Amino acid sequence: MTREEKFMQEAIALSLQGMNANEGGPFGCIIVKDDKIVGRGNNKVTTLNDPTAHAEVVAIRDACKNIGDFQLTDCEVYTSCEPCPMCLGAIYWARPKAIYFANNRADAANAGFDDSLIYDEINANIENRQIPIIAIGREDALKVFEAWKNKSDKKTY
Ligand SMILES: [Zn+2]
Repeated sequence: MTREEKFMQEAIALSLQGMNANEGGPFGCIIVKDDKIVGRGNNKVTTLNDPTAHAEVVAIRDACKNIGDFQLTDCEVYTSCEPCPMCLGAIYWARPKAIYFANNRADAANAGFDDSLIYDEINANIENRQIPIIAIGREDALKVFEAWKNKSDKKTY
């Protein structure tokens, strides 16, 4: 078994553990840095009443807390299922060096977790989305962006 397959077994074990503990859906994720597991997560949507508590987001928060950084530089993400659009976005913001997944999006859809609506919405024109998304107050909000651009003591990311 390769090191990657071994780490994936950990993520899959977490998915089963979380499911059996009734913490949420059957999803697990670990974050690895220098061959060490620095973050773990399993889906906790229904127990935390948090629609964002997907395994990947839980693991990213755990890893960032443990390593004391807002980025997962040089880390690998092992997730038991191909990341949904939210998690893919979160992973990109965290900037790890690689993502490994086990189940794919079709497997997830087959188990009742269908991300296809979100993929379709991302591709849809803004005026054709199911949840109305309306632009207002840009002039005032832009002033804050201007202030950010000129802020001398900012921490960029
Ligand atoms: Zn997700």
